[in-house]
Amino acid sequence: MSAVRSTRPCIEPPKEGSELDEALRRAFWTSLNRNPLPALQALAVAARTIGVLYRQIADAHEGPGGCACGWEPDPDSDLIVLEANLAASLLKPPESDLVHMAALGRA
Ligand SMILES: [Zn+2]
Repeated sequence: MSAVRSTRPCIEPPKEGSELDEALRRAFWTSLNRNPLPALQALAVAARTIGVLYRQIADAHEGPGGCACGWEPDPDSDLIVLEANLAASLLKPPESDLVHMAALGRA
């Protein structure tokens, strides 16, 4: 196995409320506090960033030096999974999120 690129970008699936979730939200709100954008524009930027991250992690699974976890990128079916996660978070009751966002807003 080649050591040219990261070989283990996804050892464990992230749990809800995980370090990654917290880091992404903190970066989003920190950036908006510094450079405010219209709400939908900010969310569109976040969505495009998810697409870029998808492409990068898919690339990390290609070729003999790629991650050996067994996941094979399939943009069509993976998009369905991502859309389902987006829908689930939109429909989730907001109480816990609002508490969390207040803490993030102090950045
Ligand atoms: Zn992997």
